[in-house]
Amino acid sequence: MNKIISLCKRRGFIFPGSEIYGGLSNSWDFGPLGVEMKNNIKSAWWKFFVYDKQNIVGIDSAIIINPKVWEASGHKDGFSDPLIECRECHCRFRADHLVGDDVWNQEKDFFDTASEQDREKRIVDLIEKCPHCGRKKTMTAPRNFNLMLKTYLGPIEDKNDLAYLRPETAQGIFINFKNIVTTSRQTVPFGIAQIGKAFRNEITPGNYIFRTREFEQMEIEYFIKPPKQDSDWECVFEEWRKLMLNWIEYLEIDLSKIKELNVPKKDLAHYSKKTIDFEYSFPFGVKELYGLAYRTDFDLKNHEIFSQKNLKYRDPITGEEYWPHVIEPTFGLDRTLLAVLAECYKEENIPGGEKRVVMSFPKWLAPIKVAVLPLLKNNEKIIAKSLEIYNNLKGSLSCEYDESGTIGRRYRRQDEIGTPFAITVDFESLENDDVTVRDRDTMKQERVKIANLKEYLKYD
Ligand code: ATP
Repeated sequence: MNKIISLCKRRGFIFPGSEIYGGLSNSWDFGPLGVEMKNNIKSAWWKFFVYDKQNIVGIDSAIIINPKVWEASGHKDGFSDPLIECRECHCRFRADHLVGDDVWNQEKDFFDTASEQDREKRIVDLIEKCPHCGRKKTMTAPRNFNLMLKTYLGPIEDKNDLAYLRPETAQGIFINFKNIVTTSRQTVPFGIAQIGKAFRNEITPGNYIFRTREFEQMEIEYFIKPPKQDSDWECVFEEWRKLMLNWIEYLEIDLSKIKELNVPKKDLAHYSKKTIDFEYSFPFGVKELYGLAYRTDFDLKNHEIFSQKNLKYRDPITGEEYWPHVIEPTFGLDRTLLAVLAECYKEENIPGGEKRVVMSFPKWLAPIKVAVLPLLKNNEKIIAKSLEIYNNLKGSLSCEYDESGTIGRRYRRQDEIGTPFAITVDFESLENDDVTVRDRDTMKQERVKIANLKEYLKYD
C-alpha cells in the first residue's frame, strides 16, 4: 500500500489534504491525474447505468437539506457507531471493529440494554488492552455516536438552525420522487441515479482513501411495484447483482478478488430486508467496495408520514396507487479508484536487468491516453513536428507533451502514470511523416503514419 501512496503523491494522483498546514488527518486532495481518473469513472458509470438504460434518469440534489429528512430516514436516531475511548491515552475506537463483527453481533442486545457500569465491565473483558497505548482495562462503555456532520445555517448557532451534511445521496432522490415522476414520463419500474459527495463523521477513518469523512457516492434507487411474493423483488435484485458484477468486470477488476457477503439479518440496516456487500481484496484486507440493498417501501412511506405529502405513485393505466419498493445499488467512487489503483499497480523485470513500475489501467480509465515525446529537445524541427502532433491530438484525447530527460526516463514516467501509448518523434519522422508508437503493456514499438494516428489510437 505504501508504494501506491507514494507513487500517487509523486506523480500527482492524490495529495495529503491541507499539507502545508501540517495536514488534516484522513483528508486527501486529488491532483491532476486523480481528478482525470475520477471523472473517467463517473462518466463511464453514468453511461453504463443511465445512458445505456432506457428507464434510468439522473438528479443532482442539494447536500444540505431540510433536517426533517434525516428524522424520516432514521438517520437522526439510528445512524451511529459504537464509540469507546481509552481513559489513559484518549484514543477512540469503534467497539465493533475491535471485538470483531461476530462477537459484536452476539453482544449487541446486551450493549443496547445494560447499565453503563455493566457495559463497561463487559467491554473491559472483551478488550483487555488498549491497541494504542497497551494499558490494561482502560476502555469506557460503548456509546452510540451519530455519524452525521453538523452545521448551522445563518449567523446564529441556535438549535433551530442546526442542519446536517448528507451522509448518503439516496435521500435527495426520495424527496424528489414526485418531481421526477411528474416531469420525466418514467413509469414504474424505473430508476433515479445520482453522483455526489456524502459526509460521515467516521470514528476511525483510515486505510488511505478507503474510509474518509468526505467521499463521493454513485447511487441508483430503482423503483418497482410492491411485490406480491418474494420472487417479484428477488428477480430484480438478481438482475442488479449481475449488472454490478458486469460493472466490476468493466473496471477490469479480477472477479476472483470479489467476495459477495450476504449480510446476516441481524446486521441489516434499519431499512433493508436484504443486502449484499461486494467486498474487494484490498492490500489491507477484504473490505466492502459496493452494496446492493432491498429497501422495501421504507423511505417513501416515511417521507409521506413526516412531510404529510402524498408520495404514492399512481399507475397511469390501472389507476392503482402505491408506494413503490426500492432496490438500491450503491457504489463508492473513492473506493472504486482505490481498488483500480491496487489492481493495476505492477512491478516488472524488463530486458536489460531493469525494473519498471507500470499502472496497467484499462485504456478508457487511464488519466492520460497518449504522450508525445520528441527524441531530442534541441532540434527545432523535431520539436515543431512533435508540437504539431500534440496540438492535433489533444482536442480528442487526453494528451501530454514531454521533452525533458532521456527517452528511457520519459517512458518510465508514462508507465508509472499508466499512459497506454507513447509517441516518439525522431529524425525519420521528418522525412517519412511517421512516428514510433510504444504500447505500455507489451512495450512493443510500431511505426505509424502521422495521418493514421487518430485511427490507430482508438481504444473503445
Ligand atoms: P462501511 O461498512 O465500510 O462503513 P457502509 O455499509 O456504511 O460502509 P454504505 O452506507 O452502504 O456503506 O455506503 C455506500 C458506499 O459508499 C459503500 O459501499 C462505500 O463504497 C462508500 N462509503 C461508505 N462510507 C465511506 C467512507 N467513509 N469513505 C469512503 N467511502 C465510503
